[in-house]
Amino acid sequence: MAETQQIKGMDELLYRQRHSAAHIMAEAVLEVFPEAKYAIGPPIENGFYYDFELPRPLTPEDLDQLDRLMRQSIAADKPFIKSTASKDEARRIFAGQPYKQELIDGIDAADVGICRHGEFTDLCGYPHVESTGKVGAFKLTNVAGAYWRGDEHNQMLQRIYGVMFPTQEELAAYLVRLEEAEKRDHRRLGRELELFFVDPIAPGSPFFLPKGTIVYNLAIELLREMYTRYGYQEVITPQIFSAELWKRSGHYDNYKDNMYFIQEEDQELGVKPMNCPGHCVMFASQVHSYRELPLRYADFGRLHRFERSGTLHGLTRVRSFVQDDAHTYCTMEQIGGEIAAVIAMMREAYAAFGLGEPRFSLSLRPEKRIGNEEVWDTAEVALRDALQASGVVFQEVEGEGAFYGPKIDLFLDDVLGREWQLSTVQLDFNLPERFDLHYAAEDGTLQRPVMIHRAILGSIERFMGILIEQHAGAFPVWLAPVQARLIPIADRHNDYCRGVAEKLRAAGLRVEVDERSERMQAKIRDAQLKKVPYMLIAGDRDIEAGAVSVRTREGEDLGAMAVDVFTQRVVAEVAEK
Ligand SMILES: [Zn+2]
Ligand SMILES: [Zn+2]
Repeated sequence: MAETQQIKGMDELLYRQRHSAAHIMAEAVLEVFPEAKYAIGPPIENGFYYDFELPRPLTPEDLDQLDRLMRQSIAADKPFIKSTASKDEARRIFAGQPYKQELIDGIDAADVGICRHGEFTDLCGYPHVESTGKVGAFKLTNVAGAYWRGDEHNQMLQRIYGVMFPTQEELAAYLVRLEEAEKRDHRRLGRELELFFVDPIAPGSPFFLPKGTIVYNLAIELLREMYTRYGYQEVITPQIFSAELWKRSGHYDNYKDNMYFIQEEDQELGVKPMNCPGHCVMFASQVHSYRELPLRYADFGRLHRFERSGTLHGLTRVRSFVQDDAHTYCTMEQIGGEIAAVIAMMREAYAAFGLGEPRFSLSLRPEKRIGNEEVWDTAEVALRDALQASGVVFQEVEGEGAFYGPKIDLFLDDVLGREWQLSTVQLDFNLPERFDLHYAAEDGTLQRPVMIHRAILGSIERFMGILIEQHAGAFPVWLAPVQARLIPIADRHNDYCRGVAEKLRAAGLRVEVDERSERMQAKIRDAQLKKVPYMLIAGDRDIEAGAVSVRTREGEDLGAMAVDVFTQRVVAEVAEK
């Protein structure tokens, strides 16, 4: 039984195969646990799952047994036989199966679909392959808890996941990618490299450990340095605002479910999920002339958005985060120049973080929109021209713009071929209206400015999660929390190493000394696991020469190097980014 529609990009046969495999898995589960209550089993990206209420938690041995039984059913090549039944008949067929009963109750039609293969019967109107032998290559991967109908007030079920591909080769290739993804999982690396952790005491709000905080702050510093060059002015705005602000901005009507509200002295207050309305209040607090435009407010204010607990994920889906957020107020004529500058900033930043060339998409006017056609024409042309002039790869998407303006989104494909949406440049004709913003034009009249929302990295939290996975924790040297670790060969070399460390620190480098009485090889291995870019080994001969023996985390031996030479080399590398 599937409660799903066709999945984007999955071909019809594979959809049938994955869906049929879910039936075969349920058949196997009922063979092992005749008392099992079975719920739903749709095909998904890369495979399939089925949810069950079982007498005990499943073990890896259970998965092995289910796998064997499934292969037996596939070898027997049992035909899938479809029929229909009245709802009353179906209620009898699925007697003792509460989830099926509930599903039957929820079906509007008079008859329901039934699908049998061998001894197994399911409630299902979706397409299958002809027989069990026609499914693809599969592997059962894991079991996870899942609430019935995704609602935490319902029974927690056991969801068994399987992956399925047309051929054994494709399955094997996918499993290699999966293993690589697990190695790179930022939650795991976050713990191993002592960068951050998440605790149930603060759901969706990461704790950044000292090393993670270094990376976080360096990302912000890079942006601050760019702000100086690109003409942004950083501001600090309140965290908690009267609900009046959110009513005026429209968030109260459209975004309330994702916000945190506080009742205080008979006043309702809302914690900010975005900086834009606060920036509009700031813009309106002063009289502006056309000479000041474009006026660019940048804000590293902390934002809070409620996300359902089931959707939280490490750093990439959180409730508390900071964006490298900015709002530009400008004239229609200035839009093109602003967008070109933002694209340049994006490319510069992504190169510095070693993330390669992003892809862009331009979302054009949707059916429901505000603002007159002339304004939309001008805005869309300005965005398109800016993208073309920048020479970046981009595609246009009709109808995907926001009702208040067109936008540009930036996507990044990571090493595992996954697509991430990172930053957005959004034109806004709406908020300047709602906040009645104006500036004095050259002819003395009062004019409405256009507002541009833009983030380069997006949420710093999410960006860090992607950065950790992309580099598998081995950050570029300028960003590495520890850039070099000194490794004394014996205790008598500790003093020398401390002295070298002081010299490197004086040059602005981040350095540690490994003074544990471990073997040198163990210390080198540990530094490699911690992804420290340079290991500086010092023994008697190095000390005599005023040098260190340099090794990289990739295992390259750079030989003995005078301390000054090494310092200059790394300082230059950091400056270059
Ligand atoms: Zn089915
Ligand atoms: Zn904004």
